[in-house]
Amino acid sequence: MVNLSNIIRTHLEEVRRRMIIDQITLDGWDVQNAHYLKPGEYEPIEGTSRKIDVGDIWARQGQTAFMTKEVDIPKEWDGRYLAMEIQTDGEGLLKVNGHPYHGVDNWRGYIMLDQAVKGGSHYKLEIEGKCGRPWDYVVTDARTPYILSRARLIAIDKVTERYYYDLAVVLDSACCQEDPVLREALLRAIKKAMLNVDFRAAGNDEFKSGLAKASEALKENLSEIKFGDNTAGVYLVGHSHIDLAWLWPLKETMRKVGRTYSTVTTLMEEFPDYKFVCSQVPLFLWLKAQYPEIYEKVKARAAEGRFEPIGGTWVEHDCNMLSGESFVRQCLYGQRFFKSEFGVDVRVGWLPDVFGYSWAMPQIYKKAGLDYFMTAKLTWNDTNRFPYNTFWWQGADGTKMMTHIHFGPYNNEANPAEIAKCWKNNLNKLEFPEFLETFGYGDGGGGPTRQMLEYIPRMKDIPGLPKAETGSAHAFFDRMREEAVDLPVWNGELYYEMHRGTYTSQAWNKRYNRLSELLYRDLEIWSSMAGLYGYAYPKETINENWHTILLNQFHDIIPGSSITEVYNVSHEDYRGVLDDGACMKAQAVDKLAEGIDTSGSGVPVVVFNSVSWERNGSVSVEAPYSSCRVLKSSGADVPCQVSDGVLTFSACNVPSMGYEVYHVVQGSASQQTPFTFDGKTIKTPFYEVKLSADGTFDHVLDLENKREVIADGCRGNILQVFDDRPSKEEAWDIELHYQDKGAEFVQEGPVKLIENGPARLVLGRTLKYGTSVLDQKVVFYANSRRIDFINDIDWQERKAVLKAAFPVSVQSCRATYEIPYGAIERPTHWNTTWDLARFEVSGHRWADLSESGYGVSVLNDCKYGWDIKDNVIRLTLLRAPEYPDPIADKGRHEFTYSLLPHAGDWTCGTIREAAELNIPLTAVQTEHRKGTLGASHSFVSVDNPKAIIDTIKQAEDSDDMIVRVYESCGSRGPVSLKFDRPISKASECNLLEAEIDSVDCDGSTLKFFIKPFELRTFKVAFD
Ligand SMILES: [Zn+2]
Repeated sequence: MVNLSNIIRTHLEEVRRRMIIDQITLDGWDVQNAHYLKPGEYEPIEGTSRKIDVGDIWARQGQTAFMTKEVDIPKEWDGRYLAMEIQTDGEGLLKVNGHPYHGVDNWRGYIMLDQAVKGGSHYKLEIEGKCGRPWDYVVTDARTPYILSRARLIAIDKVTERYYYDLAVVLDSACCQEDPVLREALLRAIKKAMLNVDFRAAGNDEFKSGLAKASEALKENLSEIKFGDNTAGVYLVGHSHIDLAWLWPLKETMRKVGRTYSTVTTLMEEFPDYKFVCSQVPLFLWLKAQYPEIYEKVKARAAEGRFEPIGGTWVEHDCNMLSGESFVRQCLYGQRFFKSEFGVDVRVGWLPDVFGYSWAMPQIYKKAGLDYFMTAKLTWNDTNRFPYNTFWWQGADGTKMMTHIHFGPYNNEANPAEIAKCWKNNLNKLEFPEFLETFGYGDGGGGPTRQMLEYIPRMKDIPGLPKAETGSAHAFFDRMREEAVDLPVWNGELYYEMHRGTYTSQAWNKRYNRLSELLYRDLEIWSSMAGLYGYAYPKETINENWHTILLNQFHDIIPGSSITEVYNVSHEDYRGVLDDGACMKAQAVDKLAEGIDTSGSGVPVVVFNSVSWERNGSVSVEAPYSSCRVLKSSGADVPCQVSDGVLTFSACNVPSMGYEVYHVVQGSASQQTPFTFDGKTIKTPFYEVKLSADGTFDHVLDLENKREVIADGCRGNILQVFDDRPSKEEAWDIELHYQDKGAEFVQEGPVKLIENGPARLVLGRTLKYGTSVLDQKVVFYANSRRIDFINDIDWQERKAVLKAAFPVSVQSCRATYEIPYGAIERPTHWNTTWDLARFEVSGHRWADLSESGYGVSVLNDCKYGWDIKDNVIRLTLLRAPEYPDPIADKGRHEFTYSLLPHAGDWTCGTIREAAELNIPLTAVQTEHRKGTLGASHSFVSVDNPKAIIDTIKQAEDSDDMIVRVYESCGSRGPVSLKFDRPISKASECNLLEAEIDSVDCDGSTLKFFIKPFELRTFKVAFD
């Protein structure tokens, strides 16, 4: 027997053929091919100017084509609905009569030109087309031809088209129904309605009235189906996920915005209920710069509430590698843009496509005005199903943020099958019987199509299907807050059980990001202090460079999942940011140094300390003499040594956020080295280290704590290389089977003694694996418990991962890792699938394994991937994926990691040592001056050792000082911030620098109470 759905489908095909009532083939396009260099700049390809017809080649792989066709509309088409059909297999922007109008690609092959065309009117159609689909960019064979396989103007009969969609939506709804009775009832309702249509009358009014009657009958037939009520609702929001860079470079995204948003604004004219959300500031900036006409339309639609800014951050950023302050700046600069350009306060955090979400986020997002959070990614976990779709997400400090995880992908077609599937998989139906679904093609842009917009209003009332509604994403979340009851709480990070390789891939980007974050931290602190002495704070340049840092934190750039070209541009961006930053920081510290009393003997060196505690540290400057002594301003000698023209000395007790003046004089100090090294054993003030034959650490005896650091029978500082061959998405994924096959870097020759002096002992070793060569310096300090491993590697492996391993004599089933503004504990065992899935995790500057009374931390200066299983701490150093960048990470890398055995746990010094490794003291050789500032000075200090001043900057809207403090250990207590001068006014702010509360201010001191992992921001002004 013939299937009922097939009968309906055949009927619909016949209807579809009758939708087009006339056509004009668009032959004779003028074409010129070119290479796209950057926005507005093209290199024409010689000899490619020609005329083409349908069926001809319009471009070859990698090329852009400028295509023009002029056409007159026949008089008899007057009043008709005019559209263009085009198929190129490429991606382009259609201009109509000189105005950007609509994107062209295989999803946008049907473009409405006029809903009632004027007969005899003239159209100039211009297309700037690029080869490849919206997500294609990588050129494989430059000869591959692209053919203009369709180009015609069509006149559409709207009555027939409407009827077609009326039936198609119900047919699709029936086909995805799991209940056989309801499916049959829906099909019969259609079949019955179809009887009103008489194809023999096709083309005349009787046929059209039959279609209208059939549509009405269908509605009635559906209303008669008794199936109980589906009270569920789906809230459909138009969207196009545009990756700023991925398989294409930023410069291509600058064209994508024109294609995508012209389509959105044009479709909005035809579909008055169509609403669209858009995140990411650079997309708006590029649109404004390249397509001002579209941008103005976007602004007009935004004013109507139909184009809805969302996300509130500068870009849809990664959440594994960003420092706390980077998260803040994503929000600060993002929210400021949306406020100034669109007058809106964005309240919905929006990261549909990011690879795991830090436990720090609820607090940061909420303090930046983002009350809600939306993602889709966690439903793609490879091991465990995340248990909720709608829930309160609780952060490290206890802040709860209302969160909604859309089931499945974020690029949806808004069809009945998708909606039914999302509803079926929604895990919080009872708490809140609605869900948000974004519709529209994305990743490479594109957005919603006409078909989606035709479907949505027809899905309002179909038996068995959640009721479709469109509206703003903010309205959905507000309703959820009002109506959801007894929502569950998830307290912890939102770990993504996939893409664990992104903590490590493209190591230079991770390093540049860390260097940039910390350089700009220093720069802002010293510029703020110098600003108190008349220095002009370079706010504009600092902010511009912050925007570049934030752009490169996009969720396919910093994770390492983009193509080679993206990283070439990114590295250049970072080098510019770092050069500018170094230059501005030098100006700020020089300005401060000018006011400091440096009088005395020898060459004065001012050592600046930007961390908020008094610290010791090793400082290296060019040696002014072949033999030197270094004196504190009190005249006391400090440990120093000269090697290869570099003077290294132990600065001690440098004041919090302040400086200390040292004097380098000629001569030799009588100090002795506290180190011995006999080729096998190293003795330092803190340790006795025994080397094995291969240069690894056989034993590390902690002399102060009288215990062994390395596990019995094991070696520390092993450089392990594993086969890293994930089954797909190489740059993204590291799969557990990498552990099946591994080897070690092998030391060549003996360990060499490089330096041995009063300040430090430096050993050197060279290791090889395959054709890769690693030079490692091992540094022991006289005034620090840290042992640094400074690495310079030529990494030539492919599909391999490099880890540094420390099996330690510590037993604990929990390890702790630094996250932005805090720390997180994770298991060291694989008891459950949730534990096992976290076989590789992200962490920032340190990770720690402690048992009662003692522990071992490993620190790093630019790495983010870790695994700690049982008692083995491993830091992931490098990967070598070949897709999508075939040369990813090949070549030279620099990085430092450190071993820090300690009494107590991670709260007993680890945080400070890790900060000090990452934020070195700044030494400035200067001249003798009689300054007004003393030889040792603290600009700001904090009395609570667990409260850390992370940021000092100038306020965005005034010359006031912004001071940001966080509680670092998970404790609570009173805090006093002491400045070096009287405060004239002070207030507490949110992260957008809006004043929210008063603060207890006593002369030059701010006083407040801080809670575990709490982040506080103050605005301060001085007389
Ligand atoms: Zn994405």
